[in-house]
Amino acid sequence: MPAGSVLFRDVSILDSTGADPYRGDVLVEGDRIAAVGTVDPARAEGARVVEGRGRTLMSGLCDAHTHFTWNNSADLDGLGTMPVEEHLLFAIESARTYIDSGYTMCLGAASAKDRLDVVCRDAINAGRIPGPRYLANGPEIAVTGGALIKSITKFADGPEGMRKAVRELIDIGVDQIKLSMTGEEITGTQRAEDTYFSDEEVAAAVAEAHRRGKRVCAHARSAESVKMCVRHHVDVIYHASFTDAEGMDMLEANKDWVFVAPGINWLVATLYEAEAFGFPQEAAEAVGYKKELEMAIAGLREMHRRGIKVLPGGDYGFAWTPHGTYARDLQHFVELLGFTPMEAIISATARGGEIMLRPDELGKVQPGYLADLLLVDGDPLADITVLQDQSKLHYIMKDGKFHKEASVEAAPTPPLPGNVDRNRAPAGL
Ligand SMILES: [Zn+2]
Repeated sequence: MPAGSVLFRDVSILDSTGADPYRGDVLVEGDRIAAVGTVDPARAEGARVVEGRGRTLMSGLCDAHTHFTWNNSADLDGLGTMPVEEHLLFAIESARTYIDSGYTMCLGAASAKDRLDVVCRDAINAGRIPGPRYLANGPEIAVTGGALIKSITKFADGPEGMRKAVRELIDIGVDQIKLSMTGEEITGTQRAEDTYFSDEEVAAAVAEAHRRGKRVCAHARSAESVKMCVRHHVDVIYHASFTDAEGMDMLEANKDWVFVAPGINWLVATLYEAEAFGFPQEAAEAVGYKKELEMAIAGLREMHRRGIKVLPGGDYGFAWTPHGTYARDLQHFVELLGFTPMEAIISATARGGEIMLRPDELGKVQPGYLADLLLVDGDPLADITVLQDQSKLHYIMKDGKFHKEASVEAAPTPPLPGNVDRNRAPAGL
């Protein structure tokens, strides 16, 4: 019996293979899932037992477009002016908020300062701070005149400039490169349908990154930018709001490798929920966010219909998209994009394992997978919003170690009348 074994007994197993949930046991040995469904009692002997009582056991979630360094502010330029010491503390707190929210996998989508993401990733991996598995990014690369927020941008022009910028970012230890290819209306100056990169620049950046085994992701809202991404093998396309018919066909023809992560909550919240922060709905509509949201929804529904990989997550960390609200994306996938709750969960778990480049180890409750698990008080297939409620995430495990253990479980369970649901015990939660 390996040390640190844990038996989740009588859980509803939501395994992310597409199978319906079923009641059973799950054994964790060390950092891996050892057995799922029926567990040989002899093998489980000596394991710590967590009584599931029918609660849902599922994989930890993935956010495909993460910014630890976005600092919950409405002042975009403040991302550049925040002193680096405070900024590092903020990023550490973001990492913790992600795992507190049930996210055990995150793909970095740009860091406000050079090394903040890389340092956080290394500290998480070394066990010095709590956080999700993380693939780190550097500052986003833009061409002269094409930055969304100048103070957090690494500028480069021409193929040679792109090569140099990519090499410098790889030198500081990033896992992927971010290209900011189009505008964004909230800036007031950069239009979402403008495309700032040339083909030669995208090709050079991608070739240089891939040469070193790094991937490329891109802020790409315009129709042209989406096609440019597919043409040059940009691995992860963010937003893709204005994808046209030709771009849709190109995505479909390349769906074996390309990922789309729309960051849909950013559009919803910027349009409807930013008024308190100085950006009322009329202003958002006037610059085109309503039209963009409508086009994005239509395009993303079509991508889903065609089997293109669309993943949740994105751009949390502004005042109106604060850290800790990440699982809103799953609700939007169900309510706006036509995903079933099961499809939304698979896109956030099994697909998450794919985008993290570890599809055989992450994102499923299967023997041999790493033990990144959530024990949820509720049924996410009946109510996807349960995943937004941290108090319902009773246990959070990463790498076979508990990040969170529900306080109600730690106290001795008092005798209860037979018809009382112990999962809803009155005290402690
Ligand atoms: Zn972003």
